Amino acid sequence: MSKKIGYGRQSIDKSDVAAVKKVLESDWLTQGPVVGQFEAALCRYTGAKFAAVVNSGTSALHLAGLALGWKSGDVILTVPTTFVASANCILYAGARPDFVDISWKSYTIDVERLKDKLKKVSRRGKRIKAVIAVDYAGHPCDWSALRKLSDRYGFQLIDDACHALGAEYQGENICNARYADAVILSFHPLKHITTGEGGAVLTNEKTIHNLVKRLSSHGIVKKQGQTAAKMPWYYEMIQLGFNFRLSDLQCALGINQLRKINGFLRKRREIARLYRSLLSELPGLTLPPESDEIRHAYHLFPVCVDFNRIDRTKADLFRHMASRNIFCQVHYIPVHLQPYYRRNFSFTPGQFPVSEKFYQCEVSLPIYPTLRREELNKIIRTFREFFETSK
Ligand SMILES: *Cc1c(COP(=O)(O)O)cnc(C)c1O
Repeated sequence: MSKKIGYGRQSIDKSDVAAVKKVLESDWLTQGPVVGQFEAALCRYTGAKFAAVVNSGTSALHLAGLALGWKSGDVILTVPTTFVASANCILYAGARPDFVDISWKSYTIDVERLKDKLKKVSRRGKRIKAVIAVDYAGHPCDWSALRKLSDRYGFQLIDDACHALGAEYQGENICNARYADAVILSFHPLKHITTGEGGAVLTNEKTIHNLVKRLSSHGIVKKQGQTAAKMPWYYEMIQLGFNFRLSDLQCALGINQLRKINGFLRKRREIARLYRSLLSELPGLTLPPESDEIRHAYHLFPVCVDFNRIDRTKADLFRHMASRNIFCQVHYIPVHLQPYYRRNFSFTPGQFPVSEKFYQCEVSLPIYPTLRREELNKIIRTFREFFETSK
């Protein structure tokens, strides 16, 4: 049997193992010096002023919302085409989630639709507290337009950049937090770099950073200076926090992974280029959008298949690929159609038609740095076969 090919996979080598081993043999497995080193490395790479690492991307979203002061009665917008965590963090703060559809041009938040929504809300004398925009697949949103709207209508901006480490917008690293109040990263094994589980909140605002740090460790602060000298045991719990810390073990892995980010991105972009050149002329196939304003980070390679046109179904395609040990995925089932969201917020099909139509056609082809050329050839051959055996 040939090796299984999934849509994504971590890239771990001997240097990663050595980095973790070194911490295992050190004095601290967690809350030691490596956490701060990883945070500093993230700042250096992204250009953001502050980085707080936490135990998942979901925790990063959760704490960013709390640090931004979200509470019951606030309305917060995100897109349906994302992982459920982008919307769930609104509920963790007790706020109310609502959605704005995506655009066909980027598969990210549709700025015109957002504008319409903001106008409608402000005519009713209400306000939107925050917008969580997702750099879907690694394609940055239209951040300068989003920032203008945020200044005009006074809402906070979160960049869910879990797909977008290394993506660029107008020539800058999108994770530098120039436009968003907070930028969210995930270090899940399928993302650009991994710590097993892990995430980070990047920001240029010291107060947001300090709140996230405090909330990630029980809401506790240790006094510095004179108090510390007199009472070295003393600490104070200022607010109700969590244990969302990332360990030194994980941070050591993170630092070593981040050293390799440019190579990882190069491989992902090479694979995307290959797919583009060898799949471009298939009938009823749309390749992921790119534009001069952005540099794609290709966490995913989402293609759109017009199944009606070839008289086949998505399940047929999945079966065909799986028969050759190739496992695609779909990103995403629109969040507003999840049973929980329908039941609790009365969302219904048809409310966000682009996200719904995108869900019908979207298939994520395998893309990860360790994919070998023979494997890529096989994926391309198998995928083309599906079209050639359709009408
Ligand atoms: C992966 C992901 C998250 C959550 O990250 P975890 O580290 O798995 O908690 C949030 N948003 C998006 C868009 C993601 O892809």
